[in-house]
Amino acid sequence: MLDVIVAGTGLSGLTAAYLLCEAGLSVRVLEAAGRSGGRIKTLKGADGAALGDLGPSWVWPAHQPVARDWLARLGVESFPQYETGDALIDMAAGQAPMRRPLPGQHGIRRITGGPGALVTALEARLPEGVVRYGARVAGISHDGLRTADGAEHSAKTIVLSMPLRVAAALDYTPALPADLLDAMQASPTWMAPQAKALAVYECAFWRDSGLSGRVASQVGPLVEIHDHCGADGSPAALFGFVGWPATDRAAHQDVLKHAVLEQLTRCFGANAANPVALEIEDWAANPLIASPRDLTEPPRHPEIRPAILRAAQWDGTLRFAIAEAAARSPGLIEGALDAGARTAAAILENQS
Ligand SMILES: Cc1cc2nc3c(=O)[nH]c(=O)nc-3n(C[C@H](O)[C@H](O)[C@H](O)COP(=O)(O)OP(=O)(O)OC[C@H]3O[C@@H](n4cnc5c(N)ncnc54)[C@H](O)[C@@H]3O)c2cc1C
Repeated sequence: MLDVIVAGTGLSGLTAAYLLCEAGLSVRVLEAAGRSGGRIKTLKGADGAALGDLGPSWVWPAHQPVARDWLARLGVESFPQYETGDALIDMAAGQAPMRRPLPGQHGIRRITGGPGALVTALEARLPEGVVRYGARVAGISHDGLRTADGAEHSAKTIVLSMPLRVAAALDYTPALPADLLDAMQASPTWMAPQAKALAVYECAFWRDSGLSGRVASQVGPLVEIHDHCGADGSPAALFGFVGWPATDRAAHQDVLKHAVLEQLTRCFGANAANPVALEIEDWAANPLIASPRDLTEPPRHPEIRPAILRAAQWDGTLRFAIAEAAARSPGLIEGALDAGARTAAAILENQS
């Protein structure tokens, strides 16, 4: 019997798996998708080089000691978010956006190579064959779990590193305590209802016009736009959060792409009309991340969730490690690192 099975290869699951393997435990990681990273997703060019992030972009190491320590531990660098120049205020359809200086966001930084660099660094430290892809966990019992293909896996401890509302929909034998299930279902998955657009260009032409790349828009479809170039300005890119409701995004994908290009051109001029790549990642359409309830509730900023989500269940054989359950920076990259590390520490302490 394995020591631990971790379900989910987001940052929290990989962090837990890495620390448990490093401590000498036998670990298997089961991931429903065909790739690692969960909400961390990188758009890559034909040569495999990272073009930009379709999930998270930012860390705040000056205010996030756990994120700062993990960046150092994994040898991953960061650089300041580009904020030099004027922002654009996009107030009304048919009107040219207004140039305005906007205050920068203190301590906001990008990860060199994107947050995917953390995922790659953690994966590279796992023994070969530990991670199995396309393995969707469907049911959990005291002595193991069952994947959707009917395979049984047994382990002394199971760590569920998947969004709490997604985990709440699994089949548990025996049933989970009602207060735990309530807390799971009441925990929104941060950014799950959102969609992000990434436009990659030959060069950062907006910088040459004294623009920071930042746009605040009441017109849309992108409600916020930011510069998303690499540390030395290459690859050149802008990203934005889509303001359309998830149902409209799903029903009118081509119209949305067209409207995004129109907005980028309205804001940044004709150079913006022909990006090398334009990708829209709709997280609401991913059932491994977004649950039906995430799509109907108004978005709330993540808050520290009840302690029961951080407690061991079933005599220590079942634990949850996911950014939303973290007691520090819940919902964020730092929360995912913290949740993974604390869960691994608790399992190791239980063993000794
Ligand atoms: C658009 C967007 C922008 C964001 N911006 C920022 C930002 O700027 N800064 C920041 O700090 N954070 C940001 N976040 C949040 C950040 O991405 C998350 O905090 C972090 O990635 C969560 O990692 P996790 O491992 O806890 O969860 P996840 O990444 O959600 O990982 C969960 C994993 O579980 C897997 N899974 C689900 N169900 C099953 C199953 N049944 N069986 C097996 N596997 C399963 C999923 O496929 C996934 O791999 C953003 C998120 C998004 C989507």
